[in-house]
Amino acid sequence: IEEAGFRPASRIASIGVSKILQIGARAAAMKREGLPVIILGAGEPDFDTPDNVKQAAKAAIDRGETKYTALDGTPELKKAIAEKFRRENGIDYALDEVTVATGAKQILFNAFMASVNPGDEVIIPTPYWTSYSDIVEICGGVPVLIPCDAEAGFRLKTEQLEKAITDKTRWVLLNSPSNPSGAAYSEADYRPLLDVLLKHPHVWLMVDDMYEHIVYDGFRFVTPVAIEPQLKDRTLTINGVSKAYAMTGWRIGYAGGPKALIKAMAVIQSQATSCPSSVSQAASVEALNGPQGFLKERQASFKHHRDLVVSGLNAIDGIDCRTPEGAFYTFAGCGGLIGKTTPAGKRIETDADFTDYLLEVAHVAVVPGSAFGLSPYFRISYATSEAELKEALKRIAEACGKLA
Ligand code: PLP
Repeated sequence: IEEAGFRPASRIASIGVSKILQIGARAAAMKREGLPVIILGAGEPDFDTPDNVKQAAKAAIDRGETKYTALDGTPELKKAIAEKFRRENGIDYALDEVTVATGAKQILFNAFMASVNPGDEVIIPTPYWTSYSDIVEICGGVPVLIPCDAEAGFRLKTEQLEKAITDKTRWVLLNSPSNPSGAAYSEADYRPLLDVLLKHPHVWLMVDDMYEHIVYDGFRFVTPVAIEPQLKDRTLTINGVSKAYAMTGWRIGYAGGPKALIKAMAVIQSQATSCPSSVSQAASVEALNGPQGFLKERQASFKHHRDLVVSGLNAIDGIDCRTPEGAFYTFAGCGGLIGKTTPAGKRIETDADFTDYLLEVAHVAVVPGSAFGLSPYFRISYATSEAELKEALKRIAEACGKLA
């Protein structure tokens, strides 16, 4: 960033543009040059926004709903969200305990900005979605990254949580199913962690349920407040329409949480934007209130892709891939390939070397584990066509076979 005489603010000096976006941009540039690149980097569902949702947006435009709306969500959308929390999660949030922003990313930003003082610690199980630690740092907080490897099922252990909590801990941030690992916490997994939190009243819990609707093999999604209602007055439950409804570009995320926090978040939002998109909010009312049957069909399709990718990767020497419970990512270990040499004579020292090699030689774009804080792994997003996945797996296997 520091070029042409521009000096960035110190709060962003050590933070770059999201690594996932960087890899995507590089792969897209290669594609424009005519190279047959397969991009398995982005967390972008491979289906279209449902038709009823698009129709609702068009109707909103026709009704003239193109003006500023209430700062943090229209009453109609807040009602639909409160009803969704009641229907699907068994949690009662009043309308002033609900907030809406331009994506779950902005919800996270508003929440940390509104609550974190310099030096406050935020416990983040690792691997984590790349924005978590960067947002915490931008807000002056200290991300406390706790490694949770494949052997631990990429899940935080009770002892780890107990050890990580200090007087300065402000938040614990949990994401289930997880981006990037696809690992999810069952009620039994969550219970001992929530018991630890009950013992530490100064620690608040932020849960990111973005992939709630993408779970496999009968996995029963549950969110912490539904398991332990005593935590409701210090938990922020985050969700959004991006992944379940293929609405990443519509930019609507939401959360339920204690009134005072929701109010403080609105203060931040009021200085960052005036309201979330009016049209997207109308469409999101339809997404949440409309037919939900297609979610099951999507699950079946994603599961098929997951099985294809997991078995394809595990058939490759040097790669070890755990079967994820949810989301549309695999986070595979590539430790067996570290130390090997490419046909061009370059030694693979890190997972980023490996993913560079895959991009250059196999023309397959995936994201290194280091982007999510845990190495040596790489993340594949399998929300793409079966034909592309099969071709990518073939190319990855061939490229790995050339390493010596
Ligand atoms: N949380 C997780 C775990 C994600 O993977 C993403 C997007 O990739 C987000 C939040 C942000 O979603 P949104 O599009 O609503 O900003």
